[in-house]
Amino acid sequence: MPNLNLLIERDIDKETALKIAELQHKRELLIIDMQYTDDMSIILDSFDKLTNNEFNLQELWGFEKNEDYHFLIGKGNIPHCECPLQDNLESRNCGYRIYSENCPLHNQLTIIKGK
Ligand SMILES: [Zn+2]
Repeated sequence: MPNLNLLIERDIDKETALKIAELQHKRELLIIDMQYTDDMSIILDSFDKLTNNEFNLQELWGFEKNEDYHFLIGKGNIPHCECPLQDNLESRNCGYRIYSENCPLHNQLTIIKGK
């Protein structure tokens, strides 16, 4: 369900709010797909769709399309992600992310990815 305060704050119309709700539901289904498989091709395909889903949500909310502000990063927040959750919760509004070299989704060196 869309954040009701944010709908008001960003002056989102009903049609857009319904699209946001639909994309958020789709996001939950993709996460379930990822949770219940060990098949990396399905996991990576779903993760790719999730990344696009987050870009589409940013656009509908009227935010800049920027991967550094995506919600789904961190162990326990997205299936199979090994990136540090707490560090990424803290850095979310700072415009950078902290990745783990062991993460099969983000698969980068342990770096702080600056802008
Ligand atoms: Zn990760």
